[in-house]
Amino acid sequence: MNIAIIGTGYVGLPTGVGFAELGNNVTCIDIDENKIKSLKEGNITLYEDGLLDLFLKNTKNGNLNFTSSLEDGVKNAEIVIIAVGTPPHPVTKEADMKYIHAAAKDLAKYLNNYKVVAIKSTVPVGTGDEVENIIRQENPNSDFDMVSLPEFLREGFAVYDFFNPDRIVVGTNSIKAREVISRLYADFKDKTNILYTNRRSSETIKYASNSFLAMKIHFINEMADFCEQSGADILEVAKGMGLDTRIGNRFLNPGPGYGGSCFPKDTLAMAYMGRQYNIDLSLINAAIKGNDDRKDKIANKIKLEVKDIKNANIAILGLAFKNGTDDCRESPAIDIVNKLLSDNLNIKAYDPKAMDLAKVLLGDKIKYSNNMYDCIKDVDLLVIFTEWDEFKELDLEQASKLMRNKNILDFRNLLDKDRVLKSGVKYKGVGR
Ligand code: NAD
Repeated sequence: MNIAIIGTGYVGLPTGVGFAELGNNVTCIDIDENKIKSLKEGNITLYEDGLLDLFLKNTKNGNLNFTSSLEDGVKNAEIVIIAVGTPPHPVTKEADMKYIHAAAKDLAKYLNNYKVVAIKSTVPVGTGDEVENIIRQENPNSDFDMVSLPEFLREGFAVYDFFNPDRIVVGTNSIKAREVISRLYADFKDKTNILYTNRRSSETIKYASNSFLAMKIHFINEMADFCEQSGADILEVAKGMGLDTRIGNRFLNPGPGYGGSCFPKDTLAMAYMGRQYNIDLSLINAAIKGNDDRKDKIANKIKLEVKDIKNANIAILGLAFKNGTDDCRESPAIDIVNKLLSDNLNIKAYDPKAMDLAKVLLGDKIKYSNNMYDCIKDVDLLVIFTEWDEFKELDLEQASKLMRNKNILDFRNLLDKDRVLKSGVKYKGVGR
């Protein structure tokens, strides 16, 4: 099939690469000309496990193309997938629809023969109707069906999730559009649940899912706080809870709070929609507040560990919001570092993949190291924020020689507590 994808970011690029790998002819479009230039030159613009090889293979065999011209990308496409950003509005915190609206307006003039327009971006309930109206107003002769096709990929596992989705949700009442989408996902039909719903249900499924997952993380973080005070161990508690199939064992890992480009903005947008419909979404509001407060609490915990705040050196391992990705958007690590900087703490940081993007956010306010041993040299405290496998391999003997004060705060429970303590290093995990 000929597929056009508008927006070549964390969703658009892996989706484009995935459909190209399945033998489709995919054109990825972006208004960011530098990004398109870089992709055309064979340089990938984001890190995801396994993405580079498939990207190179499919650009070479011609299945995957890039352009900044909407016309070139869309004119021969049977299906146009919109995957532009929907960041939080700076004031109201609702999903900011400016990129979606602009893409819809620009797209309208190229819809003169039948196409399916599918919105993969996470968008407020009713957006399908809104975008359909925008297109019809711009081009009364347009021939298309509007579909909601929410994306559920996890950053860090984008390629795996593309080929192994838990479910594909398709919001449309059009039989014609359904036929096109079922061809698009023909390779998945035997192994994946494909759920057809009305458009508004599909749009709601995305927000409800992300809100639920954010609440699950917030819940286990609150339980971790409780365990710290009560003498229980959150790892044992989470294991015991997870054995109940109604609860499930995933998303029960305590940490520094949820982050990334989805949960923070999607919970805020859901809360905003609740207010619009006069529904008290109290659980979601509590998760939003609890997750924000958690970063202050963690910054305070860190400060309590260092005696002489003005002269203390702190090493931060991990700046990405989670492992497997270089994405630092809304990363708790970045927020907490900023809070620590307001107390003038000296900070050195290392992340195996996210250094470039972290530098954009933190600039020269901190020092950057080339590896974890360089990072922990002469520090008074080591703080772990991201669950990279590399950090699990930390050589404790070497670490204890390098650190000025031997003290680790591990906000991912990544290291083996007993081994660390045996090596003579002071250690605190989360919820234990
Ligand atoms: P992103 O910021 O990484 O990428 C968006 C891209 O769209 C950018 O490259 C931008 O230049 C481009 N763009 C903006 N307006 C455009 C236009 N008019 N024409 C062409 N390109 C345009 O965003 P993302 O993380 O890929 O997220 C995209 C959407 O998918 C959001 O709604 C997000 O909530 C949703 N989503 C993201 C994830 C994730 O893990 N990142 C997962 C599921 C859903």
